[in-house]
Amino acid sequence: MSVFNQATAICGKCGAENVVKLAASVNADRRADLRAAILDGSFQATKCEKCGTALRLPAHLTYLDIGRGQWILVETSELLPHWQEAEQEAQTAYDLAFGPDAPEEAREIGEGLKPRLVFGWFALREKLIAAEFSLDDITLELLKMSIIANVGGAPMADQSELRLTGGDAEQLHFAWIVGNTEQVLATLDVAREEYDAIEDDAEDWAALRADLTAHLFVDIQRSLSGKGTPREAAVLEG
Ligand SMILES: [Zn+2]
Repeated sequence: MSVFNQATAICGKCGAENVVKLAASVNADRRADLRAAILDGSFQATKCEKCGTALRLPAHLTYLDIGRGQWILVETSELLPHWQEAEQEAQTAYDLAFGPDAPEEAREIGEGLKPRLVFGWFALREKLIAAEFSLDDITLELLKMSIIANVGGAPMADQSELRLTGGDAEQLHFAWIVGNTEQVLATLDVAREEYDAIEDDAEDWAALRADLTAHLFVDIQRSLSGKGTPREAAVLEG
């Protein structure tokens, strides 16, 4: 079921209070239109009734797409520094809904689901695009590590994140974006064969893959954010 709650969004520019419908859950199997809106960036995006300033509502919802095997807990980018706690909460929520603590019927559905935790709308969109292009999201994160190591540093390294934004049979499109403002800083295209090379080179990537595989927060931000600033600098400059 897709659930929306009435809420008030205060315009950052003029201070007007806007009554909005805040998404609490999205069922993409029944609401293909909501999935399409997430993909085109219009989901939970509105305008201040008084001054017309774009308002992007903060993410805090569950996204379910049984057909594509996706269960995703979506949190706002501001929560990223607390990803460890959020990941535990996501695991508990998933276990109750489709995991070991769920009723049998739900557990059976859960066998076909990949539970994930993401922060921000671009991160959610990336998971949907990856599924659309039949890309394994773990390999995708390994590809991002490879891009950062080979192509060079991120603009505004402490705030920006590299996100898949689209692609075709030949190319994958990425953008460096600022997580909490969604400002696009730079874009880059990567040949799809770079992705295939990581799948083919399974042995070289085995340790890093194992790190990502064991968790719900499948994102290179695991190692780039939070504690461990020296490592962050090393990776981003590498
Ligand atoms: Zn306003």
